[in-house]
Amino acid sequence: MGIRDILKQREEARNSNTGGGQSDLPEGVKRYIQAGSFGEINKEGKTVVLLAKPDDWFFYFVHEDKVYEGKTIHKFQKHTCLHSPKSPAGDDILKFARPKGDVCPSCKVGAKRKMFAMIPVFDPEYGTYRVIDLTEFHINNLIDDIEKAEEMAREFQPDYTLAGKPVHIKQVDKSFSLGKARLDISAEMQQKIDEASKTEIEYEELAHFRDVDNIVELLNEADDSSIDKTKLPDAIEKADDSDSGFANGNEEKAENYGF
Ligand SMILES: [Zn+2]
Repeated sequence: MGIRDILKQREEARNSNTGGGQSDLPEGVKRYIQAGSFGEINKEGKTVVLLAKPDDWFFYFVHEDKVYEGKTIHKFQKHTCLHSPKSPAGDDILKFARPKGDVCPSCKVGAKRKMFAMIPVFDPEYGTYRVIDLTEFHINNLIDDIEKAEEMAREFQPDYTLAGKPVHIKQVDKSFSLGKARLDISAEMQQKIDEASKTEIEYEELAHFRDVDNIVELLNEADDSSIDKTKLPDAIEKADDSDSGFANGNEEKAENYGF
């Protein structure tokens, strides 16, 4: 099996499964809840139950460089930075704040790097846990909304938290807002919510950490203006001296590159 097939399989598995194990989601429904005009969290919004406080959300880093010219153009394929935590890191996220070239080839070549977070939620529609994956900008807006709501409620109940409560998240202008939700939680649903909140979400799997060779391959195909290609390691020499397919961006040769 060629690397293209392996990558394709991984992509399909990632899109369809739970991040490991049997899927409890119907076919075609992803663990990720898509946000945006064509996603499930659109202007109408979606009601979910927050499964954790923001301090316990999974923060990580992504290399992404895109411009909007009538349509979105990605200067390279978006991918998880290898210098990222593999599980919720709390304050330790600061240890990952700066790029680290000896761990991540994309950091080494100066690829644009952004912080993202996955919000763990319970989806009443499917009765299971899912994640909302958003950039720092949107996450900030949602946390603002959470803090405002909690501050008000704490006047009456000092330990009030929205974690474990239903909220309605919707697209507003170019970001997202979080507000009150109407949701009748039956005893049966509460049991599922409790189970979901105890589920150890496999963030590492969901974030899809690629291997170094795979990242070097996609960096080789990057727009020259987006990274410093002179700093790219020659993955091909390391992997297979006889074939420089990737470095030349030669698709045909690259297909022959197997494990
Ligand atoms: Zn990186």
